[in-house]
Amino acid sequence: MKEYILSIDQGTTSIRAIFFNHDGDIVSVFAKEFNQFYPASGWVEQDPMEMWAVTGEVIEKAMKKSNIKEEEIIAIGITNQRETAIVWDKNTGEPVYNAIVWQDRRTAEYCDQLKADDPKIEAVVREKTGLMIDSYFSGTKVKWILDNVEGARERAEKGDLIFGNVDAWIMWNLTGGKTHATDYSNASRTLMFNIHDLKWDEDLLKLLNVPASMLPKVQESSGHFGVTAKIFKREIPITGDAGDQQAATFGQCCFKKGMAKFTYGTAGVMTVNIGEKPFLSNNGLTTTIGWGINGKVEYLLEAVAFSAGSAIQWLRDEMDMLDESPDSEYFALKAKISNCGVYFIPAFTGLCAPYWNSYARATIFGIERGTTKNNIIRAVLESLGYQTRDMFDAFSEDLGERLSILKVDGGACNNNLLMQFTSDIVNVDIERPDNTETTAAGAAYLAGLAVGFWKDQDEIVRKRTVDTVFKPKMEESSRDDLYKGWKRAIRATLEWSNDR
Ligand code: ADP
Repeated sequence: MKEYILSIDQGTTSIRAIFFNHDGDIVSVFAKEFNQFYPASGWVEQDPMEMWAVTGEVIEKAMKKSNIKEEEIIAIGITNQRETAIVWDKNTGEPVYNAIVWQDRRTAEYCDQLKADDPKIEAVVREKTGLMIDSYFSGTKVKWILDNVEGARERAEKGDLIFGNVDAWIMWNLTGGKTHATDYSNASRTLMFNIHDLKWDEDLLKLLNVPASMLPKVQESSGHFGVTAKIFKREIPITGDAGDQQAATFGQCCFKKGMAKFTYGTAGVMTVNIGEKPFLSNNGLTTTIGWGINGKVEYLLEAVAFSAGSAIQWLRDEMDMLDESPDSEYFALKAKISNCGVYFIPAFTGLCAPYWNSYARATIFGIERGTTKNNIIRAVLESLGYQTRDMFDAFSEDLGERLSILKVDGGACNNNLLMQFTSDIVNVDIERPDNTETTAAGAAYLAGLAVGFWKDQDEIVRKRTVDTVFKPKMEESSRDDLYKGWKRAIRATLEWSNDR
């Protein structure tokens, strides 16, 4: 009989159902986008009921596409956009408000207020959660719903309302309201979870005024969460759950301390496995839980670049320089010799680690009369490489040793010029796997390991295949000169934002 693991990848813009076989290969995939709402400046919402409906639809269509039968599905894994907060009534299953998405900045002022009221609070929160006080994380979003939706706080205090990230919402619905749970990796992005004790933190719940009764049970990422009562006629076990970046790290088989991946999606996210003992970064990186499996919890350091692939989208959509993002490689190659002195800093919404300046804006330096569109496109692509170098150096400093290899995924990792340049400028081997759907793969691996579909992590490592390894080819002096130019451009960008 054929046997598969179903991975539900609940992303920010689309939901995908992906089926994996014993070889770890994808046998069927179906994706569908869903609506985003922008009700006010800086606000981003989604409709939880639509997400649930789309989940059902993509599963059904992926099954139909490859003629997969219910009996052939051994287990289900879930991975999700993290931090997005949903509050719903556990009696009726109705959300009391739209999902407040991770990008939503409506609680930024409240976060500033918390820090102004008590200058020591940030250090306390950082020590407990590994995060900064920021509207990005779920905690202040839950508080906002309780404070702003009529009657919500009373209903929550009576025990009628519950909270979850999107994983918990999908799981609760899939199990017909029987399972209200999440995994360590998702819990660690809420600003309410103590990553050392592995418990919801009473002090933080008090600070944010969120009743403990609302919170999901936190489990290992690989283990039994519940069985399906909806969509399928059979009871299929749900045995894997992890936030998207953690799932991608697991999907890249970064199972050992010091193993790192970089996802080149809309944003760029670098994570490094730091093993079983968490520590705080000196370079503005967050500390987060990677996953819990077989009684062990492993931690990651993480850095986000807000603009990575989105800078290519900007060339395509606003500058009209490209028809499709992959065309960037063709034009950049025509620029022949590197950047011709042109540098682009993609600070559309500020600069994150290691610079942390939310007022910086994108800039282009070094334009001459002979500068062409090709040079600009090349400079934009190279900016992704330089950002990787900045982060890579910050990680290496925190870890006290240089990382030896960087595994890559996400849409823009298919750009060979970008990957070679990144390898050159960082001076590290870059490994691109055959299967770049690493997020979905990670959730499938977590689910499959829990039911013996795969024996152990070693078996998964053996099955992972590599497409290309990009090796550094650039002379050291060229690397140093180019990177010096980037740092100079960064300094000038920061100066522009500071001198307001
Ligand atoms: P997300 O999961 O964040 O939606 P994806 O991993 O699907 O993102 O990657 C999409 C991003 O990658 C887009 O921003 C797009 O501009 C960029 N991209 C895709 N292919 C290429 C390519 N060949 N060269 C450069 N950028 C690319």
